Amino acid sequence: VQAVFRSNLSHLLELMGSGKESLIFMKKRTKRLTAQWATAAQRLTQKLGSIPRDQKQILVHIGFLTEESGDVFSPRVLKGGPLGEMVQWADILAALYVLGHSLRVTVSLKELQSNLGVPPGRGNCPLTVPLPFDLIYTDYHGLQQMKQHMGLSFKKYRCRIRVIDTFGTEPAYNHEEYATLHGYRTNWGYWNLNPRQFMTMFPHTPDNSFMGFVSEELNATEKQLIRGGKASNMAVVYGKEASIWKVSGKEKFLDILNKYMEIHGTVYYESQRPPEVPAFVKNHGLLPQPEFQQLLRKAKLFIGFGFPYEGPAPLEAIANGCVFLQSRFSPPHSSLNHEFFRGKPTSREVFSQHPYAENFIGKPHVWTVDYNNSEDFEAAIKAIMKTQVDPYLPYEYTCEGMLERIHAYIQHQDFCTGPVPVPPGSHIAQSHFVLAPNATHLEWAPNASSVPGAWPPTHSLRAWLAAPGRACTDACLDHGLVCEPSFFPFLNSQDAFLKLQVPCDSAEWEMHHLYPAFAQPGQECYLQKEPLLFSCAGSSTKYQRLCPCRDFLKGQVALCQGCL
Ligand code: UDP
Repeated sequence: VQAVFRSNLSHLLELMGSGKESLIFMKKRTKRLTAQWATAAQRLTQKLGSIPRDQKQILVHIGFLTEESGDVFSPRVLKGGPLGEMVQWADILAALYVLGHSLRVTVSLKELQSNLGVPPGRGNCPLTVPLPFDLIYTDYHGLQQMKQHMGLSFKKYRCRIRVIDTFGTEPAYNHEEYATLHGYRTNWGYWNLNPRQFMTMFPHTPDNSFMGFVSEELNATEKQLIRGGKASNMAVVYGKEASIWKVSGKEKFLDILNKYMEIHGTVYYESQRPPEVPAFVKNHGLLPQPEFQQLLRKAKLFIGFGFPYEGPAPLEAIANGCVFLQSRFSPPHSSLNHEFFRGKPTSREVFSQHPYAENFIGKPHVWTVDYNNSEDFEAAIKAIMKTQVDPYLPYEYTCEGMLERIHAYIQHQDFCTGPVPVPPGSHIAQSHFVLAPNATHLEWAPNASSVPGAWPPTHSLRAWLAAPGRACTDACLDHGLVCEPSFFPFLNSQDAFLKLQVPCDSAEWEMHHLYPAFAQPGQECYLQKEPLLFSCAGSSTKYQRLCPCRDFLKGQVALCQGCL
């Protein structure tokens, strides 16, 4: 059966079930965004032309909303608790549905079991029940539940699972044996999945797939209205829970801000003003999403206090024409030094409250400032009040961008049979790579065809030897490219080093998340023995990593030119 784009979402709303406050929030959002999804579907239909698309049978099991995992989020929906996850799941469901796939949605263990065809209480028996789904989207909670209740089918079918994982899982934490031996074991990691089966909220590391969500897009009339309707001295504070306002040094920078701007908040409260929120702040209480958007349309500035990390709200603010001001973290926050990230399966260092806003959007929309430096802070406020900014939404966070990306993943990502396995020591690199004319990097030979079945297509591959201590994520960015982990197998040979004119005295195969790499002392080249450990993230001053990079579409970093 071919998938046909859908523009009427009323059946999806039925599939989503009812009862929980979280589901009510998600359904309201889906309903509100229906027109935007429909327009996006139309545009993408035209863009894709007549590419045949199979209709997939898809199960979406939202583990964190199940009673069995404690469902701590639903009761907090109306109290200022985290909403980012619900925003994302609502959008994932909408995207899959609009793309025309056949969906089942489960938010309890019982529903999960009945959809998997597992008789209740038979979870641990060594049966492999045929799985009626081509794809399963779930989260870490759901993964755990499936492992417990699918018996042997879990192993057999886990290549069909996609794990929605907000902050990401790096390969070193994902590989059970390696994580255990080298101190990367956490509560969440060690699933031995292909790292690209983990799908993140922002493009943190290319080791995982970037799933994302959408932000409401403005049409030309709305943009015009915003331009005229902005109050240049109105600021909205990022943070709907009073605890966010317990930040140290707050008085100092809030007093400065208060000199120039009228400060608004949307902090949840029960009967009276939360004591953390100063009296000069105009607090609206937690607003329904559409009213929050309206508030952003009037405001000039959206200001972050450092928490929550990496949420949707700053993108919404920027899309509604606000400047986003946030604090720089020095030293950066990570699982090594911060409670929030502790135990998360990543060593990623977060240099500001919203690194995506800082690195992918930047000025004039985003200002990242050291809040402890009052002069810098004050100068930023003054400059922001004088700058004129237009609403901006990166393409990858529009409905069309999200549809395009998920379409590409469904069409091309296959963790069950592909991508092409390259046996250790294969000579594929030798025959297809050439040293670029300027001798700085390797590229796919102009006349060589792409490796069949590989996605992204291998002709977009370019490889560099990184400087000592440099991660492949950064090394590729240095050249205006992104690291592409699926290309590692093609580089994993002594030939690749020799072609790059790296003098390997010898080459050794070992399990290490930084390999392939070259170590200066000893002139040794190290090759990767365990394909699951290929990792764009990670660095050590001991090694110069061999890094596979590719180009990307403007505003759609997950896709290369020719990736669709
Ligand atoms: N939001 C809301 N009412 C408010 C403030 C925010 O509905 O008063 C919504 C906002 O539109 C955004 C969502 O809350 O989509 C989550 O935003 P945030 O960045 O705060 O992430 P979280 O920490 O909730 O995951």
